[in-house]
Amino acid sequence: MRTVGHFINGTETNGSSVEFSEIYNPATGEVQARVALATKTDLDAAVASAAAAQPKWAATNPQRRARVFFNFVGLINRDIDELAQLLSAEHGKTLDDAKGDIQRGLEVAEFAAGAPHLLKGEFTEGAGPSIDMYSMRQPVGIGAGITPFNFPAMIPLWMLSPAVAAGNAFILKPSERDPSVPIRLAQLAVEAGLPKGILNVIQGGKSAVDGILHHELISAVSFVGSTPVARYVYATAAAAGKRVQAFGGAKNHMIIMPDADMNKAADALMGAGYGSAGERCMAVSVAVPVGEATADRLVEALRPRIEKLKVGPATDKSSEMGPVITKSAKERIVQLIDSGIAHGAKLAVDGRGLSLQGYESGYFIGPTLFDNVTADMDIYKEEIFGPVLCVVRENSYDAALRLTMNNPYGNGTAIFTRDGDTARDFASRVNVGMVGINVPVPVPLAYHSFGGWKASAFGDLNQHGTDSIRFWTRTKTVTARWPSGIKDGSEFQMPTYGVDESERVR
Ligand code: NAD
Repeated sequence: MRTVGHFINGTETNGSSVEFSEIYNPATGEVQARVALATKTDLDAAVASAAAAQPKWAATNPQRRARVFFNFVGLINRDIDELAQLLSAEHGKTLDDAKGDIQRGLEVAEFAAGAPHLLKGEFTEGAGPSIDMYSMRQPVGIGAGITPFNFPAMIPLWMLSPAVAAGNAFILKPSERDPSVPIRLAQLAVEAGLPKGILNVIQGGKSAVDGILHHELISAVSFVGSTPVARYVYATAAAAGKRVQAFGGAKNHMIIMPDADMNKAADALMGAGYGSAGERCMAVSVAVPVGEATADRLVEALRPRIEKLKVGPATDKSSEMGPVITKSAKERIVQLIDSGIAHGAKLAVDGRGLSLQGYESGYFIGPTLFDNVTADMDIYKEEIFGPVLCVVRENSYDAALRLTMNNPYGNGTAIFTRDGDTARDFASRVNVGMVGINVPVPVPLAYHSFGGWKASAFGDLNQHGTDSIRFWTRTKTVTARWPSGIKDGSEFQMPTYGVDESERVR
């Protein structure tokens, strides 16, 4: 059986790992490979190679570092079909969706190729008598990224691209469910000219994460995953004195106003709710139609679309939605659907019991639609992370806004309306990090930054965009004066650079 190892100092290796975790094919339920689980020795080896390589990389001028990213982008494009196949085989998402996953990550690598401009500092000539002051952004040293299963290409690239382009070495700990694409990306980075040791991949689960959180040579940690683990990573890494950003789960609401184009809103909800089997942190899982008539029209528009949706394995090009990631994920989703029925929600379309010929052991669930969901039900409160869309009926825009704002999560949200005033009011008032106006999945592009609010993110800097450059660098500010500007004698007062008492504003 194929074993997916770590990537340490430019080489794939099982290191000293003695434990392995199985990698399933979610479409068939079969074990297709296994992944090594890192020991402390493996992590130490990765960190040692990072520590050895990083000073020279940091001293390499930024345009040469950027050139590696131009090459890297070219290589990802060259191999995108192979990467997409590998990604689909382990994750289960369709090939087109897998390409989208890679493409959105690749765009962050393109953004990182602009690092020379982004890393420029600030300079003030004459900040005091003969004094110049300048700030520079220096790498943090060794950064680490811990990533979820649902975007095995995009999210590693969100983190490693700005971190490495800024002059850091990087340790990636991908999800143990789909670890192959991250390894291929690291190999491509070395092929693109990245010195060995700058990008290492350590496989594993909680114990590998704990090793990272407590490693004294790792200065900054970026995490993306579920909210309970995000809270844990945030608190643990901060207590260990590291810079940390931790992004968590979501429950994204889409408000549908009575004036919305219902066909377009329903089409949008299909992709946002069921694309990637609902396993996106920006998936819409709650539709909030305003008014009973709007709700009736919405459910009527959704039902035939859901019944037509083609569920199948990624190897079938006509599939629009694949399986969920694991057997236990499927069981949990089915239990939540059962609980929705028990709590009195109306099951408009039931995806349980879907069986595909030849894929009977795959983790497929059909697209499911609940109507008349209320905020006290578990299907509303829990992040289901599966193809289940809940309709919560509200009778006014204010009530729909209140529902969205009272939800503990704040990753993404959307409003569908033709009314500019309502859309503007929504974008301004809603306490959610990413907002779509007639855009159901408002994932910002690489040069803007990605991040939620409330229980969807802990820390104050976002992924990609200029925030990422700030996260992966430290500011140093230099105050410089040359002998010709230095007066004789000592100064005992706090340096104020020439305030004249007569000028003081009282
Ligand atoms: P997860 O929290 O189970 O795992 C994320 C990472 O943490 C993995 O690398 C995993 O190995 C590790 N991990 C798991 N349990 C751990 C523990 N107890 N201690 C330390 N580390 C642990 O998440 P997942 O199931 O892989 O991904 C799905 C979740 O990620 C969803 O909640 C989704 O909303 C969220 N997500 C959020 C964003 C965002 O940007 N906010 C993006 C994608 C996914």
